[in-house]
Amino acid sequence: MLDELSKVNSNFEKESEMIEQKKIVEPEKIACEVCFKEIPISEAKSVKATDYIMYYCGLDCYDKWKKQEKESK
Ligand SMILES: [Zn+2]
Repeated sequence: MLDELSKVNSNFEKESEMIEQKKIVEPEKIACEVCFKEIPISEAKSVKATDYIMYYCGLDCYDKWKKQEKESK
């Protein structure tokens, strides 16, 4: 009975530790260049421009940006 209880307790401690870690390791977020939606940097599509990197939430936004670039030239 006591063993059972300590098992539950240690499981609970593990879980709360994991949540704590998640908070700390929360991914850096950046805003999409086109729709300005915030996305984790690891999920963003990135394109190297001449002197900096631009980020997009997906290929849809990348296409939109590409079209805009063409039209502005
Ligand atoms: Zn976007």
